[in-house]
Amino acid sequence: MSATYLLSIDQGTTSCRALLFDAVGRIVGIEQQEFPQHYPDDGWVEHDAEQIRDIQFDLTSKVVESSGVDTGNIAGIGITNQRETTVVWNRKTGKPIHNALVWQDRRTVNICEELIDMGLEDHIRRTTGLRPDPYFSATKIAWILRHVSGAREAAERGDLAFGTIDSWLLWNLTGGPNGGIHATDVTNASRTMLFDIHKRVWDDRLLESLGIPASMLPEVKPSSGHFGITTNDSVGLVLPVLGVAGDQHAALFGQTCFEAGMAKNTYGTGCFMLMQTGSTPVASENGLLTTVAWDTGSGLEYALEGSVFIAGAAIQWLRDELGLLERSSESETLATSVTDNGGVYVVPAFAGLGAPYWEPNARGAVFGLTRASSKAHVVRATLESLAYQTKDVLDAMSTDAGLTLSALRVDGGAAENNFLMQFQADMLNTPVERPKVLEATAWGAAALAGLAADIFDKSELASRWRVDATFEPTMVEDTRARLYTGWERAVQATLGWATT
Ligand code: ADP
Repeated sequence: MSATYLLSIDQGTTSCRALLFDAVGRIVGIEQQEFPQHYPDDGWVEHDAEQIRDIQFDLTSKVVESSGVDTGNIAGIGITNQRETTVVWNRKTGKPIHNALVWQDRRTVNICEELIDMGLEDHIRRTTGLRPDPYFSATKIAWILRHVSGAREAAERGDLAFGTIDSWLLWNLTGGPNGGIHATDVTNASRTMLFDIHKRVWDDRLLESLGIPASMLPEVKPSSGHFGITTNDSVGLVLPVLGVAGDQHAALFGQTCFEAGMAKNTYGTGCFMLMQTGSTPVASENGLLTTVAWDTGSGLEYALEGSVFIAGAAIQWLRDELGLLERSSESETLATSVTDNGGVYVVPAFAGLGAPYWEPNARGAVFGLTRASSKAHVVRATLESLAYQTKDVLDAMSTDAGLTLSALRVDGGAAENNFLMQFQADMLNTPVERPKVLEATAWGAAALAGLAADIFDKSELASRWRVDATFEPTMVEDTRARLYTGWERAVQATLGWATT
């Protein structure tokens, strides 16, 4: 029998996971471990890249061992990872020269301002599809080169390598200082703010402006294909790495959003929405990002991306700060214990408002309270705010792309909430589809590997995607319009507060 199992390495922001899937996407083994976050200063977030590597390797060996699946039956490995997080290491010693700077780290705001002062904002938008922001890897590399003693000289000698977490893991998996492969995939490259997403090359102008030697950068490969072979010394397995993609792109792939206009939303701490736009990159007029969806061997495909900063985190706030809930899942029972929001709106702008408003100074607000407002109304209004924010971003995407959403595919922790999913369908006036496999990200990486191993093709993958529940819109237009108008007024009032 030919090998059909697929191993997924899922390296997230707070935990490392390794999953073993069979050829139809069933999980046959799963291992997970959290790792420490480091906050050395205000707005600084770091990870220990060596610790991540060691935990990830340990889990990968373990998941195969405990599943009892013979290595000979595993076709290959897919890697998916927290995006943008930046590692710079010495190729000779294999050691990082600084802790990894995590995507959330804001320390490079001033380097972004330098880029804007140099008149590069438009160039960045046109070339990389992004906006100058500390979120992306470019300014993080520049910061490490400026602040670690001897780094610039070492980089110029060609001794230093940069990689997002996928590259760092791949290099270590394939031999490290002894011939490790220094590569990444197009999706991870598209989040560095150094990659020309049209010509698929590193952009010399941005490299020069930031003083980053091109020799530090990994080779950029398609997301599905041959990346290298793992060594016995790394994970005790000799297997080909056949797929690599950043977490949100892997989720879009795992959700089989293969056609232009298909979109997925991951409801976690925040919401991450991606809409496939096919082989055409769509420039946003509404503050969204243009990004690479993947390349599965037949050229680049693109996506529009928008995020909501506070989604599930608002439910955590109800639970942990206000004490209105014992568990996040209780929000569903409370929300359905009242017939409507009682006129209450919660705008959870705890960290400012993102697309399409872009007001970093906005702060959270509750509107419409009366003597009759209950805890259930506030909880319901908070859940509703996740759906309104999603609608704001999806409307902007549809306008930018000139595409109508046929259905929204969902995943992430809060997608378990039936009330929220129904309300989402009602607000969008579009069906919401929740799949059986909620592990879209890990499965997406495995599926990219399976594609390269010829276990299935994209149409088979799409036909195997199984829905667990479809939420059909049932709300009448008048109610939808009235509710959404209320939300728009609440956002406007919140913006007013921010500027006064
Ligand atoms: P992340 O990967 O960002 O940590 P998860 O996908 O694990 O997030 O989802 C966890 C988030 O979803 C938490 O913020 C939690 O409050 C929220 N959440 C989990 N279950 C529910 C639920 N049934 N209803 C509403 N929110 C939920």
